Amino acid sequence: MKKPQTKWPATETDVTLLKMEPSSRKIAHYMQEAIKEAEKAFENGEVPVGAVIVHEGRIIGRAHNQVEQLKDATAHAEMIALTQASEALGDWRLEGTDLYVTKEPCPMCAGAIVLSRVKRVVFGARDEKAGAAGTKMNILSDGCLNHKVEVAAGVEENQCRELLQSFFKKRSLD
Ligand SMILES: [Zn+2]
Repeated sequence: MKKPQTKWPATETDVTLLKMEPSSRKIAHYMQEAIKEAEKAFENGEVPVGAVIVHEGRIIGRAHNQVEQLKDATAHAEMIALTQASEALGDWRLEGTDLYVTKEPCPMCAGAIVLSRVKRVVFGARDEKAGAAGTKMNILSDGCLNHKVEVAAGVEENQCRELLQSFFKKRSLD
C-alpha cells in the first residue's frame, strides 16, 4: 500500500532542514542541548543564550552567555564555545563543524564564526535588533569574506524566543 502523503515540508525552514545532514531529529536534539545551556545562563541572571558545536556527531564545545559573570562583553556563548572547540580539535580551523545557537549571532560572534571556518550555523530565535545572520546584517554568508557559512534559521524557534522574552520580562519587573 502506498504511504499517505504528508504535508511536510510545510515551511521554508522545513525545506532547509530537509536538505540538511544530520536528520531533522538530530538537529532538534542538538538545539535542545544549546537550550539547556541557555537555561543555565537564565539561572545566572545572564541573557539566556546557549551554544553547542558539533563535529562528526560529537559535541566539542558547549557554552552559555557569561558576560555578567566574567564582566567581559565578549563572553557570548558562541565565543566561548568556539574556543572550546578549537582546544578539542587542536586547530583554530573548525572545518566540518556545525554551531547551534539559541539566538541569531551578533556581528562579533558572526565574525568569529567566519574566521573559525565553521561549516554551518543553526540558530533558533531571530534577533531583530542586531542579528548578523541575515536579519539585520549578513556577515555569515557575505561574499566579501573569504569563507561562507551555511545558515539554517528558526530551529526550535518558539522555545528559544520564549526563554529570551521571559528573561527580559522578569528583568523589567525586578
Ligand atoms: Zn555574540
